[in-house]
Amino acid sequence: MTSDIVLALDVGGTDTKMAVFGEHPEEPPLLTWTAPTRASEGPDIAFATLVENARVLLRRASELGRVVGGGLAVPGIIDEGAELLINAENLGWRDRRLGAELSDALGVPFNFGHDVRTGGLAEWKLGAGRGESDLVFVPIGTGIASALVLNDRLIDAHGFAGEVGHGGFVEGPDCPCGGRGCPERTASAAAIARRYTERTGRPAPGAVDVLRAMHEGNADAAAVWHEAVEALGQILTAVVRVTGVPLAIIGGGLAQAGADLFDPLGAAIDRRLTVHRRPRLVPAQLGKSAGVRGAGLLGWRAAREA
Ligand SMILES: [Zn+2]
Repeated sequence: MTSDIVLALDVGGTDTKMAVFGEHPEEPPLLTWTAPTRASEGPDIAFATLVENARVLLRRASELGRVVGGGLAVPGIIDEGAELLINAENLGWRDRRLGAELSDALGVPFNFGHDVRTGGLAEWKLGAGRGESDLVFVPIGTGIASALVLNDRLIDAHGFAGEVGHGGFVEGPDCPCGGRGCPERTASAAAIARRYTERTGRPAPGAVDVLRAMHEGNADAAAVWHEAVEALGQILTAVVRVTGVPLAIIGGGLAQAGADLFDPLGAAIDRRLTVHRRPRLVPAQLGKSAGVRGAGLLGWRAAREA
């Protein structure tokens, strides 16, 4: 008997992660594979590369079962409800119906979603948010974004929900988004490393190096870390004040910091809330595979809707 399987693709600026999932999405993938996205070669090459990667994945998957659907996670502004990619700055794509385009090219129904929301979908259904109806997922890496689940629905607001890493402040360092003092410029893992280097002249390849310096008693490292935690506290407090979510799942590289992050972050949030419910703060469980696992869930959705 041939089992039904789905394709999953997580398109990043540098690499595209791919996987094949069976009928139990909580189980590990049957196959994983990574290939360059080739975004720097222009929008047409990037799209041709995506189709070619998906074709190779389809060929390899066909040996494992009957491919009934495919899912895709993409960065940018994505209106999931309208099945429309409005703009993916890194890839040069605008106004694309990626699901329909891939379905036509491969002969398999495809569904697609925003990379962070797709990762959030996976954390909600398969990871740290299982069984919850309301939560926010905040991956902190080179940038900061969020995915919001309210009343058992992933909120997309036609593609504009969840951009907590930018805006909200009018003073501070310039940000590539055109704003000033954006939280992402203080609290992303990349910003922590950069700000430590700016302050001390010492190289810090990543936030983990700043953390190590802090543990060795370095006051600059402690100050940079403290400012990052305060900015994250502001972001999460804003989300909780508006939505009342009882659970915040912290993902990305920074979540690896454990108590060094979660203890002061909990305190920073506590200080800023009054009548509100305190959210539980937990680390994400799926790590870097959240996007591709969520894409697998979108693949099953495409199969059911076909
Ligand atoms: Zn910004």
